[in-house]
Amino acid sequence: MHQNTRRPRGDSPVHIIGAGIAGAWQALLFAQAGHAVTLHERSDEQLALSTSYWAGGMLAPYCEAEVAEPIISRLGLRSLDIWRRELPDTPFNGSLVVAHARERNDFERFAKMTADHQRLDATGIAGLEPSLEGRFRDALFFPAEGHVEPRRVLPKLLERIRAAGGTVCFNSEVNSKDLDGIVIDCRGLGARDEEPELRGVKGEMILIETDEVELARPVRLIHPRWPLYVIPREDHVFMLGATSIETEDWGVSVRSALELLGAAYSVHPAFAEARIVEFGSGLRPAYPDNLPRISVRGSNIAVNGLYRHGFLMAPALAELTLRFVERGMIDNEVMRCG
Ligand SMILES: Cc1cc2nc3c(=O)[nH]c(=O)nc-3n(C[C@H](O)[C@H](O)[C@H](O)COP(=O)(O)OP(=O)(O)OC[C@H]3O[C@@H](n4cnc5c(N)ncnc54)[C@H](O)[C@@H]3O)c2cc1C
Repeated sequence: MHQNTRRPRGDSPVHIIGAGIAGAWQALLFAQAGHAVTLHERSDEQLALSTSYWAGGMLAPYCEAEVAEPIISRLGLRSLDIWRRELPDTPFNGSLVVAHARERNDFERFAKMTADHQRLDATGIAGLEPSLEGRFRDALFFPAEGHVEPRRVLPKLLERIRAAGGTVCFNSEVNSKDLDGIVIDCRGLGARDEEPELRGVKGEMILIETDEVELARPVRLIHPRWPLYVIPREDHVFMLGATSIETEDWGVSVRSALELLGAAYSVHPAFAEARIVEFGSGLRPAYPDNLPRISVRGSNIAVNGLYRHGFLMAPALAELTLRFVERGMIDNEVMRCG
């Protein structure tokens, strides 16, 4: 899978464009490896212009194997190790997959298509998530999966980049042509000027707040169209996500809101009394094959197409980019040179 083709590039400065999850991980691993890193971000510290701001933050390579290519699992499993190593307080409480009776066949199909799960009966579910007692007959538990809260973890990564000697510049919209040294382009959909194949796939989400339900891990509900889920955040907030729609329109439609809120209600009726905190949507950057790509053009390297798996894959993609820059190693499945 790996080939050695070139020598190290020396001590050129490394500019990373875009402080979403892809750019943040690149900046961290390069800064830790001793490179002179500057991370440029066009928006302010809130990062609300990034897709990453809207994400669920699930680190779920096993569940994603139901629909994703094996490369996603490979990069995802490697990333889990890097998340654990770099941010050891990342919750790895696993994921729970549940279904209502009418979705029984899809539930069994999900079980067949995925690995490393345990089947739980109603008692097992109540043991793991007491709020769900009596709600489902059985469930699949994926114990090795984790989740992060994007709006908390991105600032943590930026702190770590600074601690490793990197510089982070907000309100800094830059063009790779104006930068010296190695440029790692992590602009997501903003890179369409150079990556015309990219498209945005809309994902809608809703934040709700209630102290009547407590969950320790993401709960996925088998649904005929989308992988719908409820993710616990801090302070009694839950994220409901996510649709996947081939449009670059912004905002949340009434139909999607009904689906997301209905899914939460069917996981637990107490969600009906929750307060709605926020509606929002992000555009996932995707190539036609929905697979990630590291494209090398001289000293300009583009890391893009993270689609539905940016949080899951970003650490492993950063590791591959670093190995290429330092040791000339090429991962044939992910990298395109020339
Ligand atoms: C609703 C939803 C739920 C999701 N849930 C999950 C999940 O549970 N798990 C998971 O792994 N993934 C999830 N994803 C997918 C994930 O969010 C994306 O794969 C990821 O955010 C893409 O990250 P990125 O860094 O490539 O792009 P972005 O996050 O968009 O970052 C690109 C950054 O580049 C900046 N930029 C652009 N142009 C310039 C310029 N010229 N100069 C400086 N800065 C620039 C932008 O402002 C932006 O901050 C979800 C996505 C959505 C929408």
